[in-house]
Amino acid sequence: MLTFATYFYVMRKILSLILLLALVGQASAQLQSPEQFLGYKIGTRYTPHWKIVSYFQHVAANAPKTVKLQQYGQTNEGRPLMVAFISSEENMNNLEAIRANNLRLANLSRDKAAPNENAAPIVWLSYNVHGNETSSSEAALMTVWALVDPANTKIKEWLKNTVVVMDPCINPDGRDRYVNWFNSVVGVKATPRMDTREHRDPWPGGRSNHYNFDLNRDWAWQTQVESQQRLKLYNQWMPQIHVDYHEQGINEPYYFAPAAEPYHEIITQWQRDFQTTIGKSHAKYFDANGWLYFTKLRFDLFYPSYGDTYPTYNGAIGMTYEQGGGPAGGATALTEEGDTLTLYDRAIHHFTTGMSTIEIASINASKLITEYRKFFNRAVSGGFGEYKTYIIKNNPKDADRLQALLQLLEKNGIEYGTATGNGKGYNYFTAKEESFSVANGDVVVSAFQPRSAMVQALLEPKSKLSDSATYDITAWSLPYAYGLQAFATKDRINPTAYQKPAAVVNTTGDVYAYVIKWEGLQSAKTTGQLLQKGITLRYSEVPFEVNGQKFDRGSVIVMKTSNQAFGADLWKHVVDAANANNVKLYPVTTGFVDNGGDFGSDLVTPFKMKRVVLLTGEGVSSLGAGEIWHFFDKQLEYPVSLVYANDFSRIDWAKTDVIIMPDGNYRFMSDKSSTDELKEWVSKGGKVIALESAVAAFARLDWGLKSKKAEGDNSKDPYQALASYENRERDFVSTMTPGSIYKVQLDNTHPLAFGYPEYYYTLKMDDNIYEFMNGNGWNVGVLKKENQLAGFVGSKLQNRLKDGLLFGAQNIGRGSVIYLTDDIMFRNFWENGKLMLCNAVFF
Ligand SMILES: [Zn+2]
Repeated sequence: MLTFATYFYVMRKILSLILLLALVGQASAQLQSPEQFLGYKIGTRYTPHWKIVSYFQHVAANAPKTVKLQQYGQTNEGRPLMVAFISSEENMNNLEAIRANNLRLANLSRDKAAPNENAAPIVWLSYNVHGNETSSSEAALMTVWALVDPANTKIKEWLKNTVVVMDPCINPDGRDRYVNWFNSVVGVKATPRMDTREHRDPWPGGRSNHYNFDLNRDWAWQTQVESQQRLKLYNQWMPQIHVDYHEQGINEPYYFAPAAEPYHEIITQWQRDFQTTIGKSHAKYFDANGWLYFTKLRFDLFYPSYGDTYPTYNGAIGMTYEQGGGPAGGATALTEEGDTLTLYDRAIHHFTTGMSTIEIASINASKLITEYRKFFNRAVSGGFGEYKTYIIKNNPKDADRLQALLQLLEKNGIEYGTATGNGKGYNYFTAKEESFSVANGDVVVSAFQPRSAMVQALLEPKSKLSDSATYDITAWSLPYAYGLQAFATKDRINPTAYQKPAAVVNTTGDVYAYVIKWEGLQSAKTTGQLLQKGITLRYSEVPFEVNGQKFDRGSVIVMKTSNQAFGADLWKHVVDAANANNVKLYPVTTGFVDNGGDFGSDLVTPFKMKRVVLLTGEGVSSLGAGEIWHFFDKQLEYPVSLVYANDFSRIDWAKTDVIIMPDGNYRFMSDKSSTDELKEWVSKGGKVIALESAVAAFARLDWGLKSKKAEGDNSKDPYQALASYENRERDFVSTMTPGSIYKVQLDNTHPLAFGYPEYYYTLKMDDNIYEFMNGNGWNVGVLKKENQLAGFVGSKLQNRLKDGLLFGAQNIGRGSVIYLTDDIMFRNFWENGKLMLCNAVFF
């Protein structure tokens, strides 16, 4: 029988046992595996971004001594961007010191104290840059768990001398676009049948970010918020190894380093060799599992704005890993070989290469640091590349684009200054060695700096290809992309500090009119803002001189006439808009000009707000449409209405002044009644702006534009037919231009070329070229002979790409059609093309 004392004794024992059990239970519940946390095994379903964030937060909260989470920004749609730092407790306690030391190793620190060369290398793993290549973020969940799993003692050893940085999802908006769509179309059981809808990611696909941009082409240009915020953090860390995770077609075996040719010539032997070291480590694990893989093919190291090349040009071992899968992979897919490829298979492969990368970094920690240090010592003491100094001239008319270039250099941590003197070097404009002078205010970039390799990659006039079969464009030299006069010299010039011009401050006064010079994007932005307020503007079709001041064609004039509704506030609107955009206003006291057309003459044309429709959706290039959407929305800040091209019949013509047709394949263009309707609207005053392949669609109509006929094959060598099978890729290359730079002759007396000199550097990515228009249109931008400046052009194309039209304007009734054959908005980094689109819209 129980006494009360015994009862209390037993009860106390039971209670403390319950408490103990609860504590034990809590301890094991504290740090959970992804499966425990999410309630399903990784790879059995797609994890939406918010759950990925939650799991990383869970890990950081429950392993605070070895994991630190940092949010570095957010996406256009408001999703968080974050990285996790993972290492040993000791390293985590010294994380800031490790970062500071790493910048000293790269000669990037203001602190000139000698760095500790016995440091831990930093391995940065970036997942899911292409949103519909989804398995890698699932792999990230497996990887972070493996790194913190208490049972995993081997990994604890690696983390003693290695710091891992994980970005579980570079492109959350794209990932969720795909995942939310997939989850909405899949049934209880996913099907491997490849013709089912769950294997058909709908337009624009989850690959890109919110504005349809490919973030894996944006590392150097940083036109997108994701890249801008990430690169800021990346450049504060400068890892020794960077991995960019991708997926490719479902029938492709896994791809890992070493990369394919061409390599850019500035890539060092060490960087080449270590790619092989890593590849062999991965191969060991893949061999053991019987998994198929390939190396040294397809994925080259050349174009500088990728997740592998950008880190490489910044001293790291930069690599792309590609798993067969997204976007067509769904959750399970039937391959050509008859195997079923599941999301789990895809994730476990990415997991394996990730762990192998960390392992190999740990094994080679000291060599990684020594070679990294050598890379940056060479950069500051010898400079990469044959040119040692770049001079970019500061012409007053180019001020806008020069400022934009300086911003780009700053975003990439590239130092610049100015200098005075004379020299001899390569003139980008004439493509010849010439003498030049440098004046105060010109921008001087020296090759002797930590980011020397990046300087060469971005500025050298012609990048040398070790092989022509590349994956991307072969020319991007910034002076061409920004339309700036420049020289490259083999002599060293040491720049002095650069003085940026002071901000423009305009004040209101008692004037007859204000004039805005048409010199760049900032002028266009100011103009667009005034139009949006309902202000009527005028532009001069001819140069003019008034009050002793000279103005070029396209100068915008604001007058009280036609703007009486604004009363005394008019000038305040004008001054505010100009000041906000750093644009100088020229006050004028009379409309009686000394030269040119008086403000009341018909050489000065009034214009108002234009309502712009951008065609988008199925058939339209999502990248092409995205470039224009992003430009209007985020750069010009001018309203644009996005309409599905397949809704052509629903367009409200009465509310449309301008239709922009990006690169695309338009169904309505092969329907006579639709094109008649379009022509009718144009003839009543509408304007079409057609770009790239949309121009080709107009050339197939009888409106007047004609494609230049293909040249007959002149060589009568019968043996030419005997193409070698082995050379099939090479033969294809001879008929293409993967993106090279041509000098276009401009008629800058036409409004489409207002604000430009007599030439424009275009990025030619196809062989489209048109016959000169006779009498029925204006040949505003033409290719003459021998105008190719940089990049690769296939031998069979060189003849075709001359003596033809690239940019033209055709009047139809009271309206017009503008033809822009090349992508003047390319990835929104082709800075010099933006004004042409503004010309096309406003004038
Ligand atoms: Zn990819």
